Amino acid sequence: MSIRIVVGANWGDEGKGRMIDYFAQTADYVVRYQGGNNAGHTVVNDLGEFKMHLIPSGVFNPNVINVIGTDCVINLEALLSEVDGLRKRGIDVGPFNLKISNRACICFPYHKLQDEYEEERLGCKQFGSTKQGIGPVYCDKYLKYGIQIGALKDMEYFRSQLERCIELKNLTFSGVYKKPAISIEETLEWANSQREAILPYLVDIIEFFDNVDSEKKSILFEAQLGTLRDVHYGIYPFTTSSCTLSHFVPIGAGFFKRGDVDILAVVKSFSTCVGEGPFVTEMEPAQASTLRETAFEYGAATGRPRRIGHFDAVASRYGVKCQGATEIALTKLDSLSGLRELKICTSYSVNGVNTDRFPILSDLEKAQPVYETVPGWDEDVRQIRSFDKLPQNAIDYVLRIERLMGVKIKFVSVGPERESLIVRDDG
Ligand code: GDP
Ligand code: MG
Repeated sequence: MSIRIVVGANWGDEGKGRMIDYFAQTADYVVRYQGGNNAGHTVVNDLGEFKMHLIPSGVFNPNVINVIGTDCVINLEALLSEVDGLRKRGIDVGPFNLKISNRACICFPYHKLQDEYEEERLGCKQFGSTKQGIGPVYCDKYLKYGIQIGALKDMEYFRSQLERCIELKNLTFSGVYKKPAISIEETLEWANSQREAILPYLVDIIEFFDNVDSEKKSILFEAQLGTLRDVHYGIYPFTTSSCTLSHFVPIGAGFFKRGDVDILAVVKSFSTCVGEGPFVTEMEPAQASTLRETAFEYGAATGRPRRIGHFDAVASRYGVKCQGATEIALTKLDSLSGLRELKICTSYSVNGVNTDRFPILSDLEKAQPVYETVPGWDEDVRQIRSFDKLPQNAIDYVLRIERLMGVKIKFVSVGPERESLIVRDDG
């Protein structure tokens, strides 16, 4: 059995979708194990450019079975429209190659509303939510006011659960947000209109993986976001509401078999972040906007301009460590071509004290970056496929990051396309 977990070591948008698409060429299963349709994973291959939201990035290989695991949260309508969008572009997705854990919770339209109401209430203190209802549905899950997607099989049971959940939701909507009540009937109608199409995808995930001949199969797990947005170890409370770490795979996916695991942390060769929260190495606006345009750093799910920063070795090393990474893919090296020099943040100064540890938010907000400066390179590296053919300054930059991370950089990505990848075999 071969198991590889592809995770982000930064704030998300490191290029996980791109790496999954690369490995999915030889995989049997690709499994999402957390998050919802707030994800934006970009895949560029010979079939075109795709923004993946809830559906795993393995659908481009017709031999792959894609799985949406138990800790994913599922907006039924968004899922079906993503399936539809892919079909229209010639990518066949259906119950034969997409399986959904019947224990995953449904993200209802009222979760989306709550997300909007809460950001509206916060005004200028917003978290920068994608407003897809993801935070509210995870909250409800842990409050035991979620509804598992498998409940759609029995609409009498489903209605009773919905009544229980909406009763509380309406108290919140009227009391906290001064908003109109949600109608049970309308919500039921919404669920009913998707039900027939959704049911064939549902599986008992434990039974499903029991039937996988794990000795012979290759399984890929695809995370959403990155370490620094993990609810436990990220820049809390500016995090997502689920666990983005590799260690969560068994629970989030429903995969409890053991075997050798490669944990690939995807690290971007500079920093980007969408949404609010401290971002220690954030560039000056003029410099940020130049790199934003060359690297086209706009959110894949939202289109929002991403905040841009220098490479943050303190945050990235922490990100790699929390993931238990065994290998690294460094992405977007090509975007740095043409910069005269590059800055790498090697430590933070917090209250005048130097540290290479990544602190919790109260200290992180005070952290000042301490940089070392290295020379850049001019050459376009997008066509290069072997590490030693890169300009010497680019090689030195990658090796410096590798030393700071303490984990082998096995893959260097030099373009968004599937084949724009350097696989290092130099020991
Ligand atoms: P994900 O959420 O981690 O899957 O990453 P996103 O898809 O949100 O963001 C990564 C962006 O960088 C996408 O637009 C990718 O197409 C693009 N990308 C990934 N790797 C590279 C690379 O090596 N070079 C360039 N220029 N773009 C890349
Ligand atoms: Mg993304």
